[in-house]
Order: sequence, then C-alpha cells, then structure tokens
Amino acid sequence: MGTDPYEYCPYCGSVVRSMDLPTAYYCGSCEEYVFDNPAANARVAVVDGDRILLVEIDDEFRIDDPPYDHDSEWMLPGGHVEVPEQPREAAARELEEETGLVADSEDLELFETVYRQVVEGAHAVLSLYAIEKEATTGTLNAGSDAADVRFWTPAELGAADASFRELHVEPRECNVPEWWVRRALEATTGRVS
Ligand SMILES: [Zn+2]
Repeated sequence: MGTDPYEYCPYCGSVVRSMDLPTAYYCGSCEEYVFDNPAANARVAVVDGDRILLVEIDDEFRIDDPPYDHDSEWMLPGGHVEVPEQPREAAARELEEETGLVADSEDLELFETVYRQVVEGAHAVLSLYAIEKEATTGTLNAGSDAADVRFWTPAELGAADASFRELHVEPRECNVPEWWVRRALEATTGRVS
C-alpha cells in the first residue's frame, strides 16, 4: 500500500495524474477527478469498571512488523461500515463477529470521531462508540479472525509487552490507553477517573 492508490483511472483504466495528494487525482481521458477519501470505520469500547475490551490481532493482520516490536497487538473491536449500514449498526455487527458480545446498536454511545492513518495510504475516519459490558449479552469468544479477546486496564496494557493499535490515532491526546477508558466511561456512566 502506497501513497498513490490511483495510478490508473477506476472508470476507464487510463493513467491518472496526481492533483492534490493524497486525496485528488485527475483522468484526462474521462475528464474526471478521482478521490481517495477516508474509509468509514466504526469501533466499540466495551467497558467493565476501568477495564476495556480489546481484540488481539492475528499475526497475518499485524502492522507493528517486521519485526514485531511486541509480543502481541490489540485493537478495539470494529471494522468497515458496509452499505447501507448506519455506523452504529456496523459497530454492533463487528462487536458480535469479533467478540461474541451482543449489543443493541441503539444502546451504543458515540464518544468521538477521529481521522487516522495506521498504514501509509490507508485513510480512515473512525466513529467510536462505548457501551458497558452489563448492557451486552452473549459470551465472550474470539472471532475467526481474532487471536484472543480480553478486558484490560490501562495499567495492565502498559505493563504487558503488547501494542494498542488505536494509539496511532491523531490527535495526540488519544495516544494513551487511559484516554480511551476515560472517554468511554464518561459516555456510558458519566464517571471520570
Ligand atoms: Zn478515466
């Protein structure tokens, strides 16, 4: 994945010209602009006290390589929004697929939207939702493309040889586990740690 995802026009196959990287390209044949806008992504922070639910990323999908900087890499459950889902519906669907926990999408509390680029050229806008574990049903069980699933306190995550993918998110105040737990708790219960 590079910084020029549109070397060729997706409509006619002609070579496109970079206009305003990294977003805009132009096809002289179609006389059309081609845009590489961020993809929509929805993620859920399930909180249980001061613990937050994270999914361990399977080795083939890890990004802190090569070589791996940590024994394991973790992220919030979530994924791409599919047509014609609402973001909160995508968040609830991904939560169940990846963790086994079931949430009513209407019970998810939106606490932030952020832009991020985890891998160069992979632009995404994240809708971040929170819910308390006691508001979910189902049994915790790692999905087929997850290596493990468990709750972490920020201190446990800091002490473990583990990386947290969401820390790649800008702005920088997001780049500590405590931010995610605090914002999720504020959204679900109003408590501030
Ligand atoms: Zn074209």
